[in-house]
Amino acid sequence: MELYRLTAVEISAMLERREISSRELCGELAARTDEVEESVGAYITQTREKMLETADTADSRRASGGPVTKLTGIPAAIKDNICVEGVPMTCASRMLEGFVPPYSAHVAESMAAAAIPLSGKTNLDEFAMGSTCETSALQNTKNPHDLSRVPGGSSGGSAAALASGEVPLALGSDTGGSSRAPAAFCGVVGLKPTYGAVSRHGAAAFASSLDQIAPMARCIEDVALLADVVYSHDARDAMSSPEDVKKDGFFKNLSAGMSGKTIGLPEEYLSCVDGGVAEAVKSAAKTFESLGAKILPISLPMLRYAVETYMIISSAEASSNLAKFDGVKYGYRAEGAKDIFDLIRRSRTEALGEEVKRRIMLGTYVLSSGYYDAYYNKARAASLRIRAEFIKAFETCDVLMTPTTTGVAYKAGSIVHDPARMYAGDVLTVSVNIAGLPAISVPCGFSEGMPVGLQLIGRHFGEQEILNAAFAFERESGIKNIVADIGGTGR
Ligand code: GLN
Repeated sequence: MELYRLTAVEISAMLERREISSRELCGELAARTDEVEESVGAYITQTREKMLETADTADSRRASGGPVTKLTGIPAAIKDNICVEGVPMTCASRMLEGFVPPYSAHVAESMAAAAIPLSGKTNLDEFAMGSTCETSALQNTKNPHDLSRVPGGSSGGSAAALASGEVPLALGSDTGGSSRAPAAFCGVVGLKPTYGAVSRHGAAAFASSLDQIAPMARCIEDVALLADVVYSHDARDAMSSPEDVKKDGFFKNLSAGMSGKTIGLPEEYLSCVDGGVAEAVKSAAKTFESLGAKILPISLPMLRYAVETYMIISSAEASSNLAKFDGVKYGYRAEGAKDIFDLIRRSRTEALGEEVKRRIMLGTYVLSSGYYDAYYNKARAASLRIRAEFIKAFETCDVLMTPTTTGVAYKAGSIVHDPARMYAGDVLTVSVNIAGLPAISVPCGFSEGMPVGLQLIGRHFGEQEILNAAFAFERESGIKNIVADIGGTGR
């Protein structure tokens, strides 16, 4: 049997029945990685030795009746902007080359405690800024469904590792859609948590008021299980919520009953997407109706301001968060500087990429004294209205459904040098971060031979509701666990 084609839930049952060991499983997934990684390029760093060590811990826990969870012994990849003690972290930037974190992120600690072996650190757009994975200073990642296309960004490495069958579980991060958009492009699932539901401790900050760490997998059950591991209160993140979101477990409480549910379908979101994407989403709406849900057309006109609001707020916060990369404290340091100011200027000039510099300059500009009111304060006001609009929609709807992206995966090189177009492509995901809401992207069909993503948005802390809706859709449509046959021309 090809183990790499199985979901974590299926593998978990085999581990429980002792049909395989975690060491065998990790060995087989490593072999799959060796076979496809040269074409796909999902990983910046592979941690094979560490993975096998944890696999042995998992196997001995199972043998001795030690503490195990369903995911114990099943490997996961982590995006390379999340710290794991002793494993290099680059954020796909020259700036952090050679940096080895002395501590682990809260989520990485939780995964280690559950003896989930780490397969490696995945590629991303530099400091998570981008929508194609192409702003990575270190390598290119390809879309496993069509190697001439991008996997999406910024968590493109995690999405590609899942879609190519290199690993069944992964963490991404999501500031404006970075887990959901690559999930849509690669035909996998990405869950953006409610702001404050997952600790950001140990994740490199991009825009602190928007960032969340995102569980990713190839089916809903697997995402629910991984969410069960990483969701918890953590005093080290000042915005970590004490709310008990997962109760006694998202996985345990998965239920596919949709009757009596109202799903809002915002017209503005459908009107800005390609025909094939719109078709797939409309057909998903029919599927929900056949399950007894009511589809309610609604209007969310603030969508018009979403990208501008997001770019101003995220760049402002990024310009402040990235000030610490100065050539003194971390990673890269320029040679031959005259004095400290020259050292900082040269180090940043040499080690940060074009997109990152653009965001820092934009952010610095909108925060400068002459423009603060005109841009930053306006964006704050707009973000309150975006939030209010969603809260109003949830007075009549249990869940909202929209496409995740405006089209299928971009051709490599087609958009990365046209920033305005690239930012515009994030229009359907960024409002969720601005409003702090939970959302999930699930595959809902194909267009041009490429996967299409359906985005389900929930109320604050309404993760279980969107997981259940996604689970119901997945069951009824049978669209799940898509592993690409690696090739050049689509499926
Ligand atoms: N594509 C968006 C951006 O470029 C989102 C990034 C993210 O969510 N990290 O900012």
